[in-house]
Parts: sequence; C-alpha cells; structure tokens
Amino acid sequence: MQSKKNIKDLELDELEKYLEEHGLPRFRAGQIFEWIYKDTASFGDMLNLPKTLIELLDKDFYIGRAIIEAMLHSVTDNTRKYLLCFEDKNAVECVLMDYSYGKTICISTQIGCRMSCKFCASTEGGLVRSMTCGEMLEEVMAVSRDAEERVGNIVLMGTGEPFDNYDQVMKFIRIINHSKGLNIGQRHITISTSGIVPRIYDFADENLQCKLAVSLHAADDVTRSRIMPVNRKYGIEKLLEACRYYIKSTNRRVTFEYALIKDVNDSIRNAHKLGTLLKGMLCHVNLIPLNKVEGKAFNKAPEEKVRSFKLALKGYGIDTTIRRELGSEIDAACGQLRQKYVRQ
Ligand code: SAH
Repeated sequence: MQSKKNIKDLELDELEKYLEEHGLPRFRAGQIFEWIYKDTASFGDMLNLPKTLIELLDKDFYIGRAIIEAMLHSVTDNTRKYLLCFEDKNAVECVLMDYSYGKTICISTQIGCRMSCKFCASTEGGLVRSMTCGEMLEEVMAVSRDAEERVGNIVLMGTGEPFDNYDQVMKFIRIINHSKGLNIGQRHITISTSGIVPRIYDFADENLQCKLAVSLHAADDVTRSRIMPVNRKYGIEKLLEACRYYIKSTNRRVTFEYALIKDVNDSIRNAHKLGTLLKGMLCHVNLIPLNKVEGKAFNKAPEEKVRSFKLALKGYGIDTTIRRELGSEIDAACGQLRQKYVRQ
C-alpha cells in the first residue's frame, strides 16, 4: 500500500490534478485548500465536501501537524522560541518576534545545515535532511495556532540554507502567498542566503517581490573563506556580481548581513573595505551583534566598534542599521535550542 502524503505539500494545481485524475470537479481543490489554510484539523471537518471525497482524501492524505516540544517565552520583549517536532522525530526551531510593524516569524528551512559557517550553532551535526514545503508551512501555522496571533511577516533565517532547498522553498512561498493559502504578501517574506550564487540568479529570474538578504560577514575572501566555507566555492566577486544581477533584474535592493565578530571582521579597516566594495550599490547593510555560541571561539564585537563600523559605512553613503537583539536570554539565535535537544 502506498503511504499517505502530507496534503500541505501540494499546491492548488497539484490538488486540482489529483481531483481530475479521480474524475472529480476541479473547484473542490479551492475548497479543500481554503479549509487547510484556515487550519482545519481533519478532512471530516471540511463541511462543504461530499462524504465520498472526504473518504478519498482520508485514504491518500494526512494534514501534517507538528508537536510543540518546547516553548521559551521572553517576557522582556515578548519573543517566543519554539522547538517543533515532526513525524520522524526530527526537531526544528522557529522564533516569533514582536516588531512595531507586526508579528514576524523566523523559520527553519532544513533540519541541520551543511554550510558549516564557523560562528553558527545550526551547523553542528551537518545536514540531516531538507524540510518539505508542508513542514515549513506548518512552522508558521503551529506558531500562530499556539500564540493565537496572525503572523504578518516571515523571514527564512532559522536553521538551514534556503537555497540548498530551493524547490521546496519556492513552493512554500507560492502557497504562503496564495489568496486561498496563508495570503501573506511577498513583500513580507525575506529569504536569507549564505551565498549560493547560481540560485541567486534563479531567484532573480523568478520575478518575485520577496526580499533577499545575503550573509556577507566579511569584505575580503581570506576572512570570508575562514568563517564561511561556501566562499571557497563562490567568492565575493562572483557573489556581488550575482547580487548586481538580482538588483538590476528585480529593481529591488539587497540586504547584506554582517555579523560583527571581535577581532575577526570588526575593525575600521574592515568597515572601509566593505564601504568600498558596496559603494553605489542599491543595498542596505544590517550589522548583527554576534550571538555567542557555546563552544565556539568567536565573540561579540564591543559596542563602540559596532557604532564606529556603522559610522564608517555612512561615509560611503550606505544605508546601515544595527539589528536589535531579541530574545537573547532565551537563546533565540538560530540553532541553539535544537542543539540542546539533539545533545540530550
Ligand atoms: N543559511 C542562511 C539563513 C540562516 S542564518 C544564511 O546563511 O543566510 C540567518 C543569519 O544569521 C545569517 O546571516 C547567519 O550568518 C546569521 N548567524 C548565524 N549564526 C549567528 C550568530 N551566532 N550570531 C549572529 N548571527 C548569526
């Protein structure tokens, strides 16, 4: 017997195709879709479907849900960090943050990660597997179910490299964005990549209105290769060339993330190098105070260095912000809660 599939892994047209193959009208797909993304727990609760269709759906599909294994709530800034468990007992993290412009959820795209960035907690144990689009959708749904909040913004900045799971991530975006899906505007979705250059070109060609963030973290190849092994394959020049292509073809700016690491990339010289590199580009730099990860040799840059780094970039006309630290007392930096779960 063929095993059941998670219905959240299907796009509307795939559901229509399934119904057609079973000699059923296509319009039922829209009805099913709406029920799923209104977070209906079972096919039997889909009140406008005929009994025969409910039976057919029950035979072929299940509505994938995650179990909340742990939840940490930071009362100081109302950040909630979740550890979600899927059918195969793999766990992922996501974080719900309170911003002035609305609730933002940071989701994981893979279980583990194979990018091996030296300062990051998500890389321990490497990549277990990529997540399916249905599992990523369930991250958003499980958190909003638990917190009883509508999520308005989504950032793909949790564990994993979204562009190492490209097809499922694109599918996820299409369903999130669909009017019968979660109906969240593309402009409210940010994808962060460590710099998988060919996928940046693909992403530019998708012609989406999502935001792109690129984890740069260094302005020279020696430093970047040292902390981000992906740089040995796709160096800074190739990476920025891809970013320029993205900017030109989408007319959208790129955000460069730069985690300031003590004595690694936080000097004024580093800031001038970065300024020279990015000058004139349609971009924004987001300086991230490094979140210290247990067992890693990297430390957070001192506050005054962060401020002077920002000031130096300003001299190059580069729009720069310093990321507000949320949920630091609950280990909200990606990978740290899962790291503890895996170790246990
Ligand atoms: N793989 C993607 C998305 C996940 S990480 C990427 O690399 O962009 C999201 C952001 O958090 C990245 O910019 C990443 O470099 C950064 N990050 C990872 N560990 C960090 C830490 N300990 N402190 C600060 N930022 C960190």
